[in-house]
Amino acid sequence: MLGLMQDHPLLISSLIEFAERHHGEGEVVSRRVEGDLHRYTYKDVARRARQVANALDALKLGFSDRVATLAWNGYRHLELYFGVSGSGRVLHTLNPRLHPEQIAWIVNHAEDSVLCFDMSFLPIIKAIHAHCPTVKHFVALCDADKLPADSGIPGLQSYESWIAAQSSEYQWPVFDENSASSMCYTSGTTGNPKAALYSHRSTLLHALAGALPDALSMSARDSVLPVVPMFHVNAWGLPYSAAMTGAKLVFPGPAMDGKSIYELIEGEKVSFAAGVPTVWQMMLGHMSAGKLRFSTLKRTVIGGSACPPAMITAFNDEYGVEVLHAWGMTEMSPLGTVCTLKNKHLPMSVEDKMKVRLKQGRGIFGVDMKIVDAEGHDLPWDGKAYGDLLVKGPWIIKAYFKGEGGSPLVDGWFPTGDVATIDADGYMQITDRSKDVIKSGGEWISSIDVENVAMAHPAVAMAACIGMKHPKWDERPIVAVVRKPGTELTREELLAFYEGKTAKWQIPDDVVFVDAIPLGGTGKMMKAKLREMLKDYKLPGL
Ligand code: AMP
Repeated sequence: MLGLMQDHPLLISSLIEFAERHHGEGEVVSRRVEGDLHRYTYKDVARRARQVANALDALKLGFSDRVATLAWNGYRHLELYFGVSGSGRVLHTLNPRLHPEQIAWIVNHAEDSVLCFDMSFLPIIKAIHAHCPTVKHFVALCDADKLPADSGIPGLQSYESWIAAQSSEYQWPVFDENSASSMCYTSGTTGNPKAALYSHRSTLLHALAGALPDALSMSARDSVLPVVPMFHVNAWGLPYSAAMTGAKLVFPGPAMDGKSIYELIEGEKVSFAAGVPTVWQMMLGHMSAGKLRFSTLKRTVIGGSACPPAMITAFNDEYGVEVLHAWGMTEMSPLGTVCTLKNKHLPMSVEDKMKVRLKQGRGIFGVDMKIVDAEGHDLPWDGKAYGDLLVKGPWIIKAYFKGEGGSPLVDGWFPTGDVATIDADGYMQITDRSKDVIKSGGEWISSIDVENVAMAHPAVAMAACIGMKHPKWDERPIVAVVRKPGTELTREELLAFYEGKTAKWQIPDDVVFVDAIPLGGTGKMMKAKLREMLKDYKLPGL
């Protein structure tokens, strides 16, 4: 017997329809490439998203055709989120921090038909347009008068004139909720990048679960700042969850430095912000230098790489901002776990609460997890046993676009490539990426643990731990460190700082001071590059 409830597919268009009807006056504020602040409402987003849909119809784009974006976080990008997917096309967010050749490769692999870009990225478009034969239309996300006359890009038009010609009346089509809605290429550890292809259903379910109180807890009373880029896993789904809850959206555009982010938080009364640790590191540096305070920020979700304990403490103790440590990946839309406390933790001491907060958190509803040993046997949830972390759920990948790399699943589970523990309360803690774990004398050393100790030293701006070949121990850890400006930390001082904070054999063998640690397109430390930088390095005594 089937249930007798109405059968409405879960479609992205319903989000913007809802936001327009119920939160029409809700604000969307964007720092533009031009530098000024742009301000309008969900009603305007909806109207202009319909114009985008009409513009794509006018180009005779078919169902599931790809529309690429090379853009910062901003209102026009948001309109494309809804206009492209809502009309049945696939939004393909490109990462502008990749090398132009790699971007061209990805555009060709995705067979993008239209490419919309912010003017900051004109040089990239100039470099690649002749090598992207599938792209028939280039659209610059700007006013008509900002379009360069001599761009050399055939048929280039401005976004504003492109949509101005279109009606704002549009009936969103109804189709199978399993249809593809957007795609995002993951850098991949080996070979070419591969794409995760999200569906309307997976996106809506992810947005719903992401908005729950023990996940990101979003509501119509929030002012939300996604610093995490819209080109990286749909800004962790925040644009969708915001439309679903009517939260105010604040976009930083290209200005991601500490000062700009701080000013935007204060100016727009941001209550909730999301980003990777490197962004917050810059902002906290700016705040401590200027002795600044927050007046509205209540919580911040930090993920993408492990959040150093010192950062959780700084936000919590110095600024009264709750840190939600979160974990996920491109293949998971991306949310997997968020660290919020349970009732039983509330009476605990600050130190004991901190031990919980440092973990990546509990699986949110919809995400099932397990850890396994090298033979694939389940490991206990005791907070001690660590092994490969596998996940499954309705917003987790089952295959990459075009079947690249074959089936990634093992008995229906997706292997994340992370190594983790899970405790009896279900809190997962990443000990490492499986490729970054340091194998020393048959034991594993977590590079994250080594980095966290260094990051807690007041003179350390950034730290990255890698394993170096060792004839006796197989590998030994060293830590590459960027000093804070104006400090004079020595190797010996930092090594002494490890004493008592970690087991003796887990203390790194050496400290290497560097000017910068190579960061990837999404703010993660690129350890492969660091290893290359240090290829002539020799461990002390060898
Ligand atoms: P991406 O697909 O580029 O978002 O990368 C996903 C990977 O980032 C995960 O598999 C983890 O290795 C890492 N990651 C994400 N969030 C965290 C976190 N909170 N702590 C540690 N690693 C993380």
